[in-house]
Amino acid sequence: MNTPTLEHLSTRREQRPVPPALLAALRERFGERCSTATAVREQHGRDESTYPMTPPDAVVFCESTECVAAAVKLAAAHAVPVIAYGTGSSLEGHLLAVHGGLSIDVSRMAALVSVDADDLTVTVQAGVTREQLNREIKDSGLFFPIDPGANASLGGMAATRASGTNAVRYGTMRENVLALTVVTASGEVIRTGTRAKKSSAGYDLTRLFVGSEGTLGIITEVTLRLYPLPEAVSAAICHFPRIADAVDTTIQIIQMGVPIARCELLDAHAIRGVNRYAGLTLREQPMLLMEFHGSEAGVKEQAETVQALAREHGGADFEWARTPEERTRLWAARHKAYFASLQTRPGCRSLSTDTCVPISRLAESINESVAEAEAAGLPYWVVGHVGDGNFHLSYLLDPNSPTEVATAERLSQQMVRRAIRLQGTCTGEHGIGLHKIGYLVDEAGAGAVEMMKSIKRALDPLNIMNPGKVLAL
Ligand SMILES: Cc1cc2nc3c(=O)[nH]c(=O)nc-3n(C[C@H](O)[C@H](O)[C@H](O)COP(=O)(O)OP(=O)(O)OC[C@H]3O[C@@H](n4cnc5c(N)ncnc54)[C@H](O)[C@@H]3O)c2cc1C
Repeated sequence: MNTPTLEHLSTRREQRPVPPALLAALRERFGERCSTATAVREQHGRDESTYPMTPPDAVVFCESTECVAAAVKLAAAHAVPVIAYGTGSSLEGHLLAVHGGLSIDVSRMAALVSVDADDLTVTVQAGVTREQLNREIKDSGLFFPIDPGANASLGGMAATRASGTNAVRYGTMRENVLALTVVTASGEVIRTGTRAKKSSAGYDLTRLFVGSEGTLGIITEVTLRLYPLPEAVSAAICHFPRIADAVDTTIQIIQMGVPIARCELLDAHAIRGVNRYAGLTLREQPMLLMEFHGSEAGVKEQAETVQALAREHGGADFEWARTPEERTRLWAARHKAYFASLQTRPGCRSLSTDTCVPISRLAESINESVAEAEAAGLPYWVVGHVGDGNFHLSYLLDPNSPTEVATAERLSQQMVRRAIRLQGTCTGEHGIGLHKIGYLVDEAGAGAVEMMKSIKRALDPLNIMNPGKVLAL
């Protein structure tokens, strides 16, 4: 197994810093939108991973596709790395400037370009966040379902092929991105895809860029599918004696084809954190948090089926949240689980795993991982998009303790090894970044990784697009 080696875990690489001539050219072109202030660089040189901050040499705040293209052209002329920055919520060391270089912050590209409600599509600039999009289209009767726990940018979400709690019904960014505008490694602007629902025209470049983590180009506009707001929505929580019971219920829900919209697992540790953080009084016992979308009759039918399945597995105390306010409160608690858990151990960092397996192997995957975490004695918590076979067992570690870091890495490696043995993946939604480069080889195989490297070399011959991520080149 290609464990993350010390080399992978280190943030030191051969440096390709921004030379004075490039800095002068950037300042001339972008004025105050080019910053070398320490605080700005530090903010752009970290993410939510356990890695130490590794700042870029300069940051350019772009406001248009043309601005991104101009910045990339200047960087390419000096063979200097460029790292796209959305909201900085990624979890695998994606944003660290391991070779130095320029961060291109697209957060000011925050306009909706067009809302085409009749076609159920929208085109946004890359810096629009998922919450902003849903706020701005609220009156159209449509919504965009992909919801990573953080209020991430849609460019960043496309770049990491993100998903979230709704993916079990609505799919991930892979299924929901129709078209992109991309600035290539040479600073050219290309379009991929159209607003049509399907296409057989040539290679699927949209899907190539979705999930490429800024290593092939910088996304400046994204065209997305939208969905009509469901006629009826109902959310429920149900507690189980053991995690295994909640997982077995989930497996049956999916195998029976119940079109559940959200099916999330929280273990007792996660609930304890959320209770303290959000002042809730949820029972500190494994819980499924579920949501049903459809017609009134359809939602009722789904709920009855699920309730019967849960009862068979010891599920008790079904509580329904029918008003939007009650639902918002429950889902806000779920989305706060990450920061809530961090607060249970002051000063700690969270090493978040992200394995995803075929649904029939989920019980094996979770039960064995939890048993290993218990035996190791490191504080941990579990949440999961279990309807997709995807869960996050996160270790709360002291970043200054080499023993704790090594233990968490060992446990994480065991989980990945298990997921791959069960024909699953090392990452369901967070991506490879810096941390999982070795695991990509284990999962995809040397031949497939060589093909990825050939694509990377063809599209980015100078290796300037977020170098040192996804592939070891
Ligand atoms: C509390 C919490 C909960 C989370 N829950 C989930 C979850 O449920 N599901 C999930 O999928 N993820 C989750 N994440 C991870 C994270 O939110 C996603 O990876 C998200 O898609 C990152 O978006 P961002 O805008 O923050 O991107 P950034 O972190 O800024 O960047 C991520 C990567 O994408 C590249 N990038 C950013 N913008 C562009 C662009 N315009 N063009 C090209 N490349 C670009 C960057 O270079 C980097 O490699 C969670 C994170 C946190 C902190």
